[in-house]
Amino acid sequence: MSKRIDLYGKRFGRLVVVSRQANSSNGHARWKCVCDCGNEKVVSSDSLRSGKTISCGCYSRERFIKENRQVTHNLRKHKLYGVWRSMKERCTCETHCSYKDYGGRGITVCEEWLNDFKVFYDWAINNGYREKLTIDRINNDKGYYPENCRWVTMDIQNKNKRNTINRSILQKDEKGNIVNRWNSSTEAARALNIDASHIIKCCKGKYKTAYGFYWCYERVN
Ligand SMILES: [Zn+2]
Repeated sequence: MSKRIDLYGKRFGRLVVVSRQANSSNGHARWKCVCDCGNEKVVSSDSLRSGKTISCGCYSRERFIKENRQVTHNLRKHKLYGVWRSMKERCTCETHCSYKDYGGRGITVCEEWLNDFKVFYDWAINNGYREKLTIDRINNDKGYYPENCRWVTMDIQNKNKRNTINRSILQKDEKGNIVNRWNSSTEAARALNIDASHIIKCCKGKYKTAYGFYWCYERVN
């Protein structure tokens, strides 16, 4: 055996050398080490002595997690943090004032966003987020996930909302015959001098009838 430096029993960072291993294919001495965390790792003399390897890998992992946590913590001051929180609350928190229009009608936040602000933040930054823009769901009946979301001005979002709220409404008699077709619940309510919210409740299936009629959204496919 060639002359070598004996590292047996020595400590390098979290690693303690416990035995000699076969040389690497290019002739470098290698040692089996036990890490403070309990894992074993085979490391070359060079890596140990140069300080390149100081753990089984657990040290870098811990540092990565810690740094990530720090980044996320700092990001909480960012405006997007508030956007993310209220998006989640609208969809998951039953006491939120808008829950009925979001979580209450099946609008969800995709798992990757729900569990990790950083993932949402990165998506936002890479997909056109600017201050004063608001997050908008392209299909209003679907949830918050990358393919269904974009950043738009308040104007566009309001227009979008109005379009979906102003879905055409059919007024039917008890036999199911269409009595009238309205452009919106507001229009019907105004024309008949009745309460629009009753019509909407009927359309959403909460009431069976309102003012003696059946009401439903007109299906547009
Ligand atoms: Zn370790």
